[in-house]
Amino acid sequence: MTVKKLITVPDEILRKKSQNIEKINQEEKKLINDLFETMYHHKGIGLAAIQVGIPKRVIVLDVQQKDEQKKPLCFINPVIKHLSKEKSKYEEGCLSIPNTFIEIERPKTCIVEYIDIEGKKKNMKCDDLLSTCIQHEINHLDGKLIIDFLSKLKKDLIIKKLSKVKQNSDRIVV
Ligand code: ZN
Repeated sequence: MTVKKLITVPDEILRKKSQNIEKINQEEKKLINDLFETMYHHKGIGLAAIQVGIPKRVIVLDVQQKDEQKKPLCFINPVIKHLSKEKSKYEEGCLSIPNTFIEIERPKTCIVEYIDIEGKKKNMKCDDLLSTCIQHEINHLDGKLIIDFLSKLKKDLIIKKLSKVKQNSDRIVV
């Protein structure tokens, strides 16, 4: 297993729409293992393949608390089949947007249809934190980020702040 390099904002790769996985081969299995390794290494609770630069519809999650046993979950080609009217709110961070937390309201429960690592079609009802995380990760597969929930002004400020380290020397302020 390998810890992969994380892609961060403003890299345009994060805006790419990921494609369905047709067949789960060794390559896909290795990718899933690497996603888990990368997520645990960076102490995240969810990671989408696009966050390591691979535009395939696969996400990994583990929303267990630190002192609990690990509960790795993997969803291939996940599709949300139902969203509750009831909402819940969390301060969300993202491994692709360092040091940024945004309070986002999302449906409190959802039903997700997906393929498991054995290639079987499954359904899962997700509540609370798991519901929020899976919606966050599926957003990644469609190129959507948590900063998109903000006004354009706030969004631009965050991108500007995060882009500073990448500024080149010919930028001038007069
Ligand atoms: Zn994220």
